[in-house]
Amino acid sequence: MDIDLHDYIATTPDFPKKGIMFRDINPLIGNGPAYKQAIDQLINFASPLKPDIISGPEARGFVIGSPMAYEMGIGFVPARKYGKLPRKAVSSSYGLEYGHSELQMHVDAIKPGQRVFVVDDLLATGGTITATIDLIRQLGGIVVGCGFFIELEDLHGREKIMETENIPFIALLEY
Ligand code: 5GP
Repeated sequence: MDIDLHDYIATTPDFPKKGIMFRDINPLIGNGPAYKQAIDQLINFASPLKPDIISGPEARGFVIGSPMAYEMGIGFVPARKYGKLPRKAVSSSYGLEYGHSELQMHVDAIKPGQRVFVVDDLLATGGTITATIDLIRQLGGIVVGCGFFIELEDLHGREKIMETENIPFIALLEY
């Protein structure tokens, strides 16, 4: 029988600041069968979309994208925080509640026309994943779908992703 992945999310009030309900995925990735089930579910969704590459933002996107890419026998491309990449990179900024953040990808990380499936642990406002999608598109990649462990429905991030087109979407858990 399937594991109920909800049992492996530690909901933590007032983190990182008062009023925020933080959904901590550490119990999920710390449990072998739960982690494997979650990754397998995302692979089952992504495989028919025939991606050439999995991509995800620093840092929790790596924990999801890397095992998917390994199992599927394809590459993983990280979207890194500003200033971490050693060679020429493209950038995309996005707004946070206070100030902004910037993600980067090496210019040769994705070839024009390559099919990319994008992942992260959690979709909130959609700023992080939209910046990741922007980087992929700057390099000429085609975003064929996106997947998350968790979607926070009230924040309407999904609508932000779908602003210009309908991208195949999966979130394993909704809050
Ligand atoms: P967004 O850019 O969609 O507003 O926020 C999503 C990003 O912030 C993701 O990269 C995610 O890791 C992080 N994040 C925001 N809120 C939470 C949360 O409650 N739990 C976890 N695990 N990550 C969060």
